[in-house]
Amino acid sequence: MNNPFMPHEAEVIARHEETADLFSIQLRLTDPVIQSQYRFAPGQFNMLYLPGMGEVPVSIVSDPDDIHIIDHTIRKVGSVTNNLGRLQVGDRLGLRGPYGRGWPVVEAEGTDLVIVTGGLGCAPSVSLIDYVLRCQARYGHVHIIQGVKHSNDFIWHARYDLWRQYPNVEVWLTADAGDALWPWHIGPVTQFFDQLDIDPQRTSVMMCGPEGMMKAVVQDMRQRAVPDKRIWFSMERNVQCAVGSCGRCQLGAKFVCKDGPVFNYDELAPYWGHKGA
Ligand SMILES: Cc1cc2nc3c(=O)[nH]c(=O)nc-3n(C[C@H](O)[C@H](O)[C@H](O)COP(=O)(O)OP(=O)(O)OC[C@H]3O[C@@H](n4cnc5c(N)ncnc54)[C@H](O)[C@@H]3O)c2cc1C
Repeated sequence: MNNPFMPHEAEVIARHEETADLFSIQLRLTDPVIQSQYRFAPGQFNMLYLPGMGEVPVSIVSDPDDIHIIDHTIRKVGSVTNNLGRLQVGDRLGLRGPYGRGWPVVEAEGTDLVIVTGGLGCAPSVSLIDYVLRCQARYGHVHIIQGVKHSNDFIWHARYDLWRQYPNVEVWLTADAGDALWPWHIGPVTQFFDQLDIDPQRTSVMMCGPEGMMKAVVQDMRQRAVPDKRIWFSMERNVQCAVGSCGRCQLGAKFVCKDGPVFNYDELAPYWGHKGA
């Protein structure tokens, strides 16, 4: 019988220090058959396990069509993430997943997209953007808006440079504070919304990041008459089991791990702002 809590062994293939407290690791499952069968949708997450330390949920950053590697970008905030940050190439860890419901890439076909991310909130949206741009014929105009606290927190320069070369793609970057060489904007992500040429009835909004930022975006997009069911966001809560059993991440009747982490406003409005267990 399959045990849903039994992780598979994965090996660190590459690692990259992004900033003092942010790193990326590239993983591959050591069993080639399991790796060849591993598939995920943009917006899903894995549970990464360090024996004797614990297990944490982490979004998958890689391109869903790359079946050879699994990328994660992680901020060191506590015991497990700090110890994940100490792993070197060749080290092994446990991985189970992918879990959760990702971005509504099928429901959003035929609409313009506004993708808003704040801080490391960009992580769950990287694989979304890679996917959308590869399947661009299925979508209209794509507006990508990324906000960071400080310009030094902006880590995906190469990716953003690449994305802005696509036709019908606009990229807006902003920081709360920037150093003298920051060439982009200063201020909140909402500052660009007046410049977005969108038809609310055929627009899908997808966002992830701090909840204060997401609340401001939801409020603004609702005022612009974007339908509630087309305003989507990725929620972070205390995910422990990842299979909708322990209830730690529960918001009303919804489990962030199983019914999310991506929800639309229509689904989650009554629980918006609840902290969870
Ligand atoms: C679906 C999902 C996807 C995620 N994706 C990523 C990702 O791609 N990259 C990444 O760096 N992190 C991600 N996280 C957050 C990550 O799981 C936590 O940072 C991690 O569990 C912290 O574990 P720890 O043992 O290092 O810290 P702990 O010792 O457990 O906590 C240290 C501090 O961080 C706070 N904290 C713990 N978990 C969270 C959380 N979920 N949100 C906010 N604060 C928290 C605690 O309150 C405490 O103050 C994701 C979380 C979820 C639910």
